[in-house]
Amino acid sequence: MSTQEQTQVKLQVQALEGIPALEAYIAAQDANKIRMPKPTTTVEKRVIRCPKCKGTGDYDGPTWEMSRECWTCRGEGTITRTKRTRVWPEGTSEQDVARYESELVRRYGVRLAKKALKEAQAHNARGAKADAFIAANPGLAQAFREDHAIIRDLRDQLTRKGSLSEKQVALALKIAREIEAREVARANAPKAPRGRVTVTGEIVSTKEQYNAYGYSFKMLFKAQEGFKVWVSVPSAIACEKGLEGRTLTLKVTLKPSNDDPSFAFGTRPTIVG
Ligand SMILES: [Zn+2]
Repeated sequence: MSTQEQTQVKLQVQALEGIPALEAYIAAQDANKIRMPKPTTTVEKRVIRCPKCKGTGDYDGPTWEMSRECWTCRGEGTITRTKRTRVWPEGTSEQDVARYESELVRRYGVRLAKKALKEAQAHNARGAKADAFIAANPGLAQAFREDHAIIRDLRDQLTRKGSLSEKQVALALKIAREIEAREVARANAPKAPRGRVTVTGEIVSTKEQYNAYGYSFKMLFKAQEGFKVWVSVPSAIACEKGLEGRTLTLKVTLKPSNDDPSFAFGTRPTIVG
């Protein structure tokens, strides 16, 4: 069987998708099975001089190597070559030999297909086991819908192994609960208004920033209504100390964040009171 024939058969089997296609291929191939005269194989062993070290047994490479022994013959200076020859029974025609060759190719294809079939069946069995596991653990199906790195990893593990430990299930459910709680909190959070507004609230924190445009002094401002604003500290109070915790009424232009409607970016802040 030539390498080319092997490659061809391999591609043919790889193109088969699904268990029914593999089963049909195997059945069709087995229908073509032929009885054939079998050759016997004679094995002839010959000891020859090592071609790498030319019989010296020494490694002829860089001297910093630990071992000075030839790797090919392990320092023996000789290697054993095995020659296999097919011997056909008397009366075997050239046609018979050709049939034998094609039968080898056919059998190779069947071997590959049977291996692929076994893998596909094992894969399905794992999938069925994973499905049953999800069904037996309330809330897990829901949890697996969340887009979260740990959840994804647990889902992969379940697909591979067919089950998870109790701790892993508890972890998946806990993460799902936390995500849901965050979503509820976000949905219920007070929404920041848009446009030029007057807001009263408290300075939560301040931060000095340096960027391409130079220096700016920013503050996180929490309105009485509950939404938060990221805005420059108004110049009127920028030099004062102990700004955090101070209550202010500001006139400011707000633009709510796309990611979080309870958070807005403010511009042109002026102190009203
Ligand atoms: Zn050698």
